[in-house]
Amino acid sequence: MMKVSPLILTIFLSFTSIIWSQNHSHETGHALMYPNIDGYVTLKTDLHQHTVFSDGDVWPTIRVLEALRENLDAISLTEHLEYQPHQEDIPHPDRNRAYQLALEEAKDHDLLIIPGSEITREAPIGHSNALFISDANILLAEKPETPFIEAKKQGAFVFWNHPAWYRQSPSGNPILTQFQMERITNGELHGIEVINEYDYAEESLALALKYNLTIMGTSDIHGLIDWQYLEKGFHRPITLVFAKEKSVASMREALFKGSTVAVYNKLLVGKSEFLTPLLKASIQINKAVYMENADILEVELENISSSDLLFENTMNFTFYSNPPVFEIPAGKTHILRIKTLQKAENIILKLKALGAYTAPKVHPEISWTITVE
Ligand SMILES: [Zn+2]
Ligand SMILES: [Zn+2]
Repeated sequence: MMKVSPLILTIFLSFTSIIWSQNHSHETGHALMYPNIDGYVTLKTDLHQHTVFSDGDVWPTIRVLEALRENLDAISLTEHLEYQPHQEDIPHPDRNRAYQLALEEAKDHDLLIIPGSEITREAPIGHSNALFISDANILLAEKPETPFIEAKKQGAFVFWNHPAWYRQSPSGNPILTQFQMERITNGELHGIEVINEYDYAEESLALALKYNLTIMGTSDIHGLIDWQYLEKGFHRPITLVFAKEKSVASMREALFKGSTVAVYNKLLVGKSEFLTPLLKASIQINKAVYMENADILEVELENISSSDLLFENTMNFTFYSNPPVFEIPAGKTHILRIKTLQKAENIILKLKALGAYTAPKVHPEISWTITVE
């Protein structure tokens, strides 16, 4: 043990307590918030992550702590089945180990840990995540279709990872192959990442819509979430899953149904059925009063989501002292002044969400009924 003088120790302790309190205040600031929509709870999930049990740089417990810091509801540690670069240093014959360690760490928290694995093959087969599996070891096989057949036997939800990854598709566009077509036809492939790490590919969204695949957004994190995202002032990509309740079974059911929206900061991508009510619920109308001696309605909008939301006015009414395109930052309020030409008891506010996509180049239009006070 090293001998330390009391003075140095005091300085050291006060220094660490400053650091600790800074980190602590930080912590609540990183919590992701998205409202529930009618009939569903909105689960914030990151279902594609790595640890030292494949080619990641951290122990599984760190992934749990990172998820708690960002207020996620569910994560999956999807280690590469066939790529294990740390195996000499960390020998582990059991491919379920990362899941078990995360489960143990999460047991006192309200965080769902989903068992999963990344089936890792060269193009044209590519990478796919199998979730809700009962035993990852059984997915290890020589023949490329075997892991998919085994995953299906285990009741897995399977999605195609980073289909636009330039290392497997130099054009940066997804190429749907005969292999994937067969998996879709056989009911062995159910979803597709439209956002992976920093990349959103609208070509992948087009495939999701064409083949009715569940829209996914994931971080595919290998290093630290803090270094890659939070430190830069933004969040990791996530998938919002609209489930009947917060449980593994309900989440699985929702993923099979395609009840998702992929989110990466101010970018939101999903089927209109879910994205439209999500955006509608994300904006709260705090007040609506007419300006004194004028037919101009002053409306206070509050963005209760963690995404900065960009809107364009699509009403016939125009704005007073407001541009037609405006952003409401996450958690902030915004005053609109609407020229209604005569006093009305209620109006329909109609805005197009420019940062949101229901199809390539298609933005949803959201309506709110505003009752004048
Ligand atoms: Zn991959
Ligand atoms: Zn991966």
